[in-house]
Amino acid sequence: MIYDTHPDLASWTRTHTVVNEILNMINFDFEFEKAVDAILANIEKYTNCRGITVSEVDFSLSKKVIARSPQFKEEYENKDPLLSYPITLINNRVSHTLDVYNLEANTMPKKDAETLNLFRELLQQAVNKEATKRDPLTGLYSRAYFDSQLQTEIINAKPINRAIALLMIDIDHFKKVNDTYGHPVGDVVLEKVATVLKAVIDKKGFVSRYGGEELTVILPGIGKDEAINISEEIRSYISNLQIPINSGKNIKVTVSIGVSAFPEDAEEAYELLKASDEALYSAKNSGRNRVVAFSGTERAGLRKREEKVAVEERQTAPPPRFMIVKVEISPVLKDTMFDEPVNIKDVHISNNNIFLLDSLQSRVYIFNLSGELINTFGKKGEGTSENMIEPTSISVDREGWIWITDSGNHAVKVFDPLGKSILTISATIDEEGKPIPGTGKGCFNLPYSLMISDRDEVIVVERMNRRVQIFDRMGNFKTWTNIPQKMGSDLHRPDPVDICPDGYSGYLVLDTINSSLIHFSAENEAINFFGEFGSDEGKLVCVSAISYYPKWRDILSKDAKPIIVTAEMGDVNRIQFFTTEGDFIKSIDLSPFTEDTTIRPANIFCSDDGGIYIVPQLGSTILYLLKIK
Ligand code: GH3
Ligand code: MG
Ligand code: MG
Repeated sequence: MIYDTHPDLASWTRTHTVVNEILNMINFDFEFEKAVDAILANIEKYTNCRGITVSEVDFSLSKKVIARSPQFKEEYENKDPLLSYPITLINNRVSHTLDVYNLEANTMPKKDAETLNLFRELLQQAVNKEATKRDPLTGLYSRAYFDSQLQTEIINAKPINRAIALLMIDIDHFKKVNDTYGHPVGDVVLEKVATVLKAVIDKKGFVSRYGGEELTVILPGIGKDEAINISEEIRSYISNLQIPINSGKNIKVTVSIGVSAFPEDAEEAYELLKASDEALYSAKNSGRNRVVAFSGTERAGLRKREEKVAVEERQTAPPPRFMIVKVEISPVLKDTMFDEPVNIKDVHISNNNIFLLDSLQSRVYIFNLSGELINTFGKKGEGTSENMIEPTSISVDREGWIWITDSGNHAVKVFDPLGKSILTISATIDEEGKPIPGTGKGCFNLPYSLMISDRDEVIVVERMNRRVQIFDRMGNFKTWTNIPQKMGSDLHRPDPVDICPDGYSGYLVLDTINSSLIHFSAENEAINFFGEFGSDEGKLVCVSAISYYPKWRDILSKDAKPIIVTAEMGDVNRIQFFTTEGDFIKSIDLSPFTEDTTIRPANIFCSDDGGIYIVPQLGSTILYLLKIK
């Protein structure tokens, strides 16, 4: 067993076993409250400490206990904690503390301190994750969270025919508040309206900030009539509210509310949203400070417009079963975030972190989703195991190990999240320490890209020998298989450059020379080829990368098959969606996506939430996020 032979790895793995056990208990759904419960319920198992609480710190710094370990005793109540681990929000404000009380001892065993610190990190992660769901000003759910929550609610409601109401709320003449009293007062008003909404809705639904001064409420299980009553309650409460502002003065605002309901007004998320929006528009038009429910008249108007769109769409031949309505592209990281020049080669998103591989300096950059730099490691060179010569692809496994193919060193390197080298799988070395590119099994000639399968296998594409090699997560070689040439194309040897999962334990390899994707089963057999050379939609030319799209169920009709996204760069600049069986679904042109910018996608990675991260060819902006709705 590797634990006995590799001491560094052993201690690292053991601490991570604790983390993983807790992660399993939290069931990968890393919610703050579940994390607290799981940690406190099991704290005895891992530490000898007594009396542990996780406290929420409010802004005036008085503490409110939100959870306690089972052994927490009355006697601890008025004691100062022996240790207090702060947990911070993104803006560095302490938001919670993990406090440890101990009446029996004044010190803590080192092992316990380490374990508690690990727990603190888990809670920190949970807080970070929660923060990404929230709008920082109002504390309401964010637009992104709203979008995915509405989709989820509808998917869940359909089979059981449960009602869902959707309110769209807009503050009336809000611009006037800003113009008269200034933006900070506008912010106070917005916060106050948000607080009222949270209180009225409470556990009945999800309140989100849709954008600006527009707020939405999802009410699962609530029909239209009840939703109208709730809306009326909100409207009337707000219209009677006196909102104090700095000068000792009070101001008043009103809101307009549009109401629609699933399934009678709409059967899909975007349609429901449109219906509420239409109703809100009517409320504004008919004098503001009122509630309007979506009705037949609006529905007829909406239908007519949709029919028009449908006709236009048919003319441009969109696939009818694809439910993308809107595409948004925005830069997530800019080149100003790096203090030295970089050439980003690959990107991987995992555990709410963005891992970027820079092939210029051979460095790894780790950012959180808000774009803050968390860590960076590695450098160009030969010799020590931290150095890489020509890193080409990066992946992160479930335990947080970072796997990198270094085609210059003919090696695969594994680092822990802090950048400590823990494993190297390499070619044989000659007397001078230079790698001899291997032709045997388990060593490489140009390892180019890799992926971690859902069975925890590491699948490495060896570009020169045109084969994949499969290892377990400890780096032990398991098996290999050749990458065959596309049937009938006897001109070109395959040039495999990218690999991605197929959603069912198999994988797909991208052969750039033949512009084809080769589908391998879980048994490592090539079972299908697809991709036809050409620049028309549904064909492939200059394909640079592929990625599995984990949220395929959300954007295809229900009998859908998993989706692969391809990136093409050069003759055309676009991404295309295919099923894993090779049926063309949709193409999104990236040239130009704004007036003056063409994105030339050199690499892509689809994150678990359906975001498509695009690495452009050496350009000024370093990473784009494309979202489909
Ligand atoms: P209507 O009754 O038609 O909704 O009029 P309105 O003035 O509320 O609507 P409009 O959409 O024209 O203006 C919205 C204003 O909300 C414009 C923008 O400056 C302001 N706003 C958006 N977000 C914020 C914010 O976070 N803070 C503040 N203070 N103002 C915001
Ligand atoms: Mg408004
Ligand atoms: Mg508005």
